[in-house]
Amino acid sequence: MAKEQASIITIFGGSGDLARRKLYPALYQLFRRGVLRDHFAVIGTARRPWSDEYYRDIIRESLQDEPNTDDETVSAFAGHFYYQSHDVTDADHYITLKNLSQKLDDQYGAQGNRLFYMAMAPRFFGTIASHIRSENLLSKKGYNRLVIEKPFGRDFKTAQDLNESISAAFNEDQVYRIDHYLGKEMVQGLLALRFTNPLLTPIWNKDYISDIQITLAEKVGVEERAGYYETAGALRDMVQNHIMQLIAYVAMEQPASFTPEEVHASKNKLFSHLPVLTEEEAQKNWIRGQYLASSTQKGYRQEDNVDPKSDTETYVAGRVDLDDPRWVGVPFFIRTGKRLAKKATEIAINFKPLAHNIFDAVGSKDARVNRLTVYVEPEQGYTLTLNGKTIGADYDLRQNPLSFRYSQDVINAAPEAYERLIRDALRGDQTNFTRWPEQEATWQYIDVVRKAWDDGADLAMYNSGSHGPAAADKLLERDGYSWAETFTNEN
Ligand code: NAP
Repeated sequence: MAKEQASIITIFGGSGDLARRKLYPALYQLFRRGVLRDHFAVIGTARRPWSDEYYRDIIRESLQDEPNTDDETVSAFAGHFYYQSHDVTDADHYITLKNLSQKLDDQYGAQGNRLFYMAMAPRFFGTIASHIRSENLLSKKGYNRLVIEKPFGRDFKTAQDLNESISAAFNEDQVYRIDHYLGKEMVQGLLALRFTNPLLTPIWNKDYISDIQITLAEKVGVEERAGYYETAGALRDMVQNHIMQLIAYVAMEQPASFTPEEVHASKNKLFSHLPVLTEEEAQKNWIRGQYLASSTQKGYRQEDNVDPKSDTETYVAGRVDLDDPRWVGVPFFIRTGKRLAKKATEIAINFKPLAHNIFDAVGSKDARVNRLTVYVEPEQGYTLTLNGKTIGADYDLRQNPLSFRYSQDVINAAPEAYERLIRDALRGDQTNFTRWPEQEATWQYIDVVRKAWDDGADLAMYNSGSHGPAAADKLLERDGYSWAETFTNEN
C-alpha cells in the first residue's frame, strides 16, 4: 500500500480547465491508490461564487471519463473538497482562506502541511506568492510547498521578475515548477536506460554518437488555445521547456547518485554548456513555420482568435550545439509542430559508423549506422537497429531492428504525468521539477532565437497533415544529416 500523505491542498484556479481536466483526475487516482486517504482536504478557489456542493458536483463531473471509478469511491473522494470564492488580487480574501485551511487541518489532521497549486494565468503567480507570505498563510508546523504551472515567464526578463517575486515568499526547495514532460514514463525512463546499461553508458558521447534528434509532433492544431498561443508560439510553448528538458536528460553527465540534488546538479552543469548564441547563429540554425489549411482543416491564420496576418510559429526546427566536452561536434536537432502527419514524441540517437568496415569492399550498402530510438509517446519503448547479414548465399547486409514496446494495458494502468508529479510534490521530491538555473539558461538561449526571428526571418508555410516545412529538411541536409523516419516508419 502506498504511503499516505497528509496535506491541505489549495488550488488557485479551481474552476479552470487545467484543474478539471488534469488535477482532479490525478488527485482521484492518488486517492484510489491510497497516497491520499483520510488526512487531506482540497480547497478550490476562483472568483465565481460556488457552494461546496456545487464544487463537488464539478469534481464528480471531471471524473466521468476516468478509469477505475465507482460511486462510493468518487463520493468519498469528493467529500474532501471545499470551495472558497476568492479574488487573488484581494488581500482580505487570503484571511478567509487561511482560516479555512486551519479549520480543515484540524478536521483532517493534515499535520500543518500546505501545498499551494497555482493553476491560473501566470500573471497572477507573483501576486499569489506574495500574499501567501504577507497574509501568513504559511504553516509553521508542517511543510509549505508551491506548485507552479508553465509557462514560467515569456522571456528571460519576465521569468526573472517572476522568480524574484516567488523567491521573496518561498525558498527554492519549496518551489515545484511543473514541466509535465518530466512526469512522463519514458522521460523518467531515459535515466534508467542511460545509466544502468553497460552497453550504452560508455559510448554515450561524441566518440560514438553522430547526432541526436528530438521530435515532438502533434497532430492537432491550436484548438481552443489560440488566445494564449498567439502570444507564445511553438518556441516558447514547447522548446524552452519540454525540448530543453529532454536535451538535458539525454545529454547530462551521470549524477553522482539518484537524488534530486544530484540530478539537478547534473542538469545545471549541462545547461551551463548551452552557449549564448549570436543572432547570426540563431538565424542560421533555427527555422520557424506555420500550418496552412487542408481540404478538411483550417489554416492557422483562419483559426478563431488568430490574427489573419499572424506570424506566430506553429512549427520550429533547430540545431543546438552544446559546448560540453562530451558533446563537441555532435548536433542536437530538434523539431516540434502542430498539425503534422502524426502525433509522436521520439528521441533518435544516431551512432557513428565504424572507421573501417571490412564489408565496404563487397558492397555493404544496406548496412547503416546503428540507431537507438526512444519512443516517448504515444508508443512507449525502444528500438535499436543492428546490422546483420541477409539470409542467403550472397553476403548482403541489412538492418535488423530489436524492438521493445510496453503493452497498451501496462501503459493504461500506469499513472498519468500529473498524478506522478503531484505525488512527488506531496512527498517532497523535486527530481522531476525544474529549478531556476535551468529556466535562466534556457530562456537566455531561446531569447536570442526569438530576437533573430523578430528582426526578420522567413516563416516557412507547411500543409496541415504534412511532415512540416521543407526548410526543416534542408537545415539537416546542409550539414550532411537527415531526419529519422518518424513520419514514414510504422515502428
Ligand atoms: P483557465 O481555464 O482560464 O482557468 C483560470 C482560472 O483562474 C479559473 O478558475 C478562474 O476562475 C481563475 N481566476 C481568474 N482570475 C482570477 C482572479 N482574479 N482571482 C481568482 N481566480 C481567478 O486556465 P487553465 O487553462 O486552467 O490554465 C491554468 C494554468 O495552467 C495556466 O498557467 C496555463 O498556462 C497552465 N496550463 C494549462 C494547461 C491546460 O491544458 N489547460 C496545460 C498546461 C499548462 P474565475 O473566473 O471564477 O475567477
